[in-house]
Amino acid sequence: MGEFDGLVAAVTGGASGIGLAAAGQLARQGARVACLDLKPDDVPAPLVGVACDVTDDASVTAAVAEVVRRFGRLDVLVNNAGIGAQGTVADNDDDEWHRVFDVNVVGIARVSRAALPHLRQSPSAVIVNTCSVAATAGIPQRALYSASKGAVRALTFAMAADHLEDGIRVNCVHPGTADTPWVGRLLDKAEDPEAERRALEARQPMGRLVSAEEVAQGIVYLASPGAAASTAVELCVDGGMQNLRLRPK
Ligand code: NAD
Repeated sequence: MGEFDGLVAAVTGGASGIGLAAAGQLARQGARVACLDLKPDDVPAPLVGVACDVTDDASVTAAVAEVVRRFGRLDVLVNNAGIGAQGTVADNDDDEWHRVFDVNVVGIARVSRAALPHLRQSPSAVIVNTCSVAATAGIPQRALYSASKGAVRALTFAMAADHLEDGIRVNCVHPGTADTPWVGRLLDKAEDPEAERRALEARQPMGRLVSAEEVAQGIVYLASPGAAASTAVELCVDGGMQNLRLRPK
């Protein structure tokens, strides 16, 4: 018997990394799960891949309708799709700012807007947004990305307030540097990816990256009926990154 028996979840960006891990855990705990992603064919059964571009309103509307057509309801929405950007405020032009905000911030608004009428009908309705430690800690060379995640954090609290009386909880998780294909792609750009990985690990307070499964556990906890008293909550799964400055000797 799972905590999510009888419930239906939709996970954006569910074809890879943190989203895929969260979708898998939700399914193992009894949910029927749709992964809304640009790459629905990458989604392994029993998860269901649904084509969705969170920057395209028609695509989002069709994807949410497909989830409800297939499963008859929607209880859990994980807004996880996101893209990165590197550099200082001087390095990204207006087009890049619009592109990243369109996925990371407006994407959450679009998917939530389409999902809300269905969530309002669920007695266990919850939204979990994948945010980032970058929303709260000043991380060098991540100006645009950090600003977008700061907006996700604020949006989480605003949505929690707006939908309190609808019975919809809204929370967010802040991953630290997580070992996902995203980080793998960044490391692969280095001259010596293995040396770069070791250097990245050494910079983390715990001396290691967090895993996608660890971040997913945070998402699944906040989505679970067991967290029914938690709304407008932010949970760090960041290896201590937000609140620890130095590694112990
Ligand atoms: P990932 O690249 O492994 O997976 C992201 C998924 O999102 C992919 O399947 C991709 O196809 C999908 N996606 C991208 N744009 C989309 C769009 N327009 N519409 C629908 N799907 C789209 O990345 P990840 O590391 O698992 O990151 C997931 C989330 O976690 C992101 O929101 C990211 O900002 C956040 N995060 C990641 C880290 C990290 O270190 N990996 C740290 C903090 C926060």
